[in-house]
Amino acid sequence: MSISKPTQAIDGNDATIARETAIFAPYAMHSADSAGRVHAESPHAYRGPYQRDRDRIVHCSAYRRLSYKMQVFTGEFGDYHRTRLTHTLEVASIARSIARALRLNEDFVEALALLHDIGHPPYGHAGEETLDACLAEDGGFNHNRQALRIVEHLETRYPDFPGLNLSREVLEGQAYRAKETISPLLEVQVVDVADGIAYNTHDADDALELGLLVIGDLLEQPLWREAYARVQVQYANLNSDALRLAVLHELINWQVGDVLQATTGRIEEHRLRTVTDVRHAPPVVLPSNDVTALRDSFQQHLFQNVYRHPEVLTQRREAQAALRAMFDHFVAEPEKLPVTFRPAVSEINIRRFVADVLAGMTDRFAQNVFREIAV
Ligand code: MG
Repeated sequence: MSISKPTQAIDGNDATIARETAIFAPYAMHSADSAGRVHAESPHAYRGPYQRDRDRIVHCSAYRRLSYKMQVFTGEFGDYHRTRLTHTLEVASIARSIARALRLNEDFVEALALLHDIGHPPYGHAGEETLDACLAEDGGFNHNRQALRIVEHLETRYPDFPGLNLSREVLEGQAYRAKETISPLLEVQVVDVADGIAYNTHDADDALELGLLVIGDLLEQPLWREAYARVQVQYANLNSDALRLAVLHELINWQVGDVLQATTGRIEEHRLRTVTDVRHAPPVVLPSNDVTALRDSFQQHLFQNVYRHPEVLTQRREAQAALRAMFDHFVAEPEKLPVTFRPAVSEINIRRFVADVLAGMTDRFAQNVFREIAV
């Protein structure tokens, strides 16, 4: 079978462009309008540019390592709770639902959702804070910026270019997350809001399963109380596990529905007709003001009672001390770094290089390396 080679200059193909023209809203990011890639590439025979981005992310090693990186709880807490990878998949799932309902570019949204956390070091935000302190005089460390470093420089998978050579829109979306640019496209806003919905529900679920929270605590929160009341109207006699899962389902469904309704209203209010209109308007893909207030209070509650739970704090301190010890150890003796991580380029600042290596480690790998250097 031979597939004829598309001849147009843009990084898309006729089928993708025709499909998008037929179903996307005019304010969606259409592949035909992409600004392309840093290193020009021929269009693919049957995949659009953001499909290619998504596939490159799924095939990169930083993405696979998310399976052994923690979200909030390390592996020592058990195997029920979310990892960084399953969190990422929940974000992608929620983001795609929102994008489809708003007739936005789902491929773009999925690519950015799968990319959004690949810069996370081992040990979640605790690890991030430690690396940031380690690099205080070298520009600091931030997981959103690190994701850009990975896809622009650190992953070497293709003979023709460094990094993954993602489309400029996906890179710009991640740069927005790193607070390095403004005026986000609607697809970028969708990933942001989906991230919030995913973690506020799954962190509550995980904390309940682990016994760090009890339902009674959460019933003090109006967001949870309202979802709970809705479930009880529908199902009178659920046991506590089934009730919890139904409340979580309701929380996601309610928040997504609220975002869709509020966003549709704001798109009308700001008369968004094109991508240019989107870039000149304030962000619109957000919950309603009422739900924002409930959600903020809920997140505050999780912060104080889950992320600052004594058991979580103990693990946090141990993880931070281990990461700091590894950083100091390898900065002093970089030749002892695990051999697979020898620098591909020599001009890198050694402290930054050590941080890149440490950030790429899974929790499990970091733990093993720490054990070796600690003896
Ligand atoms: Mg996230």
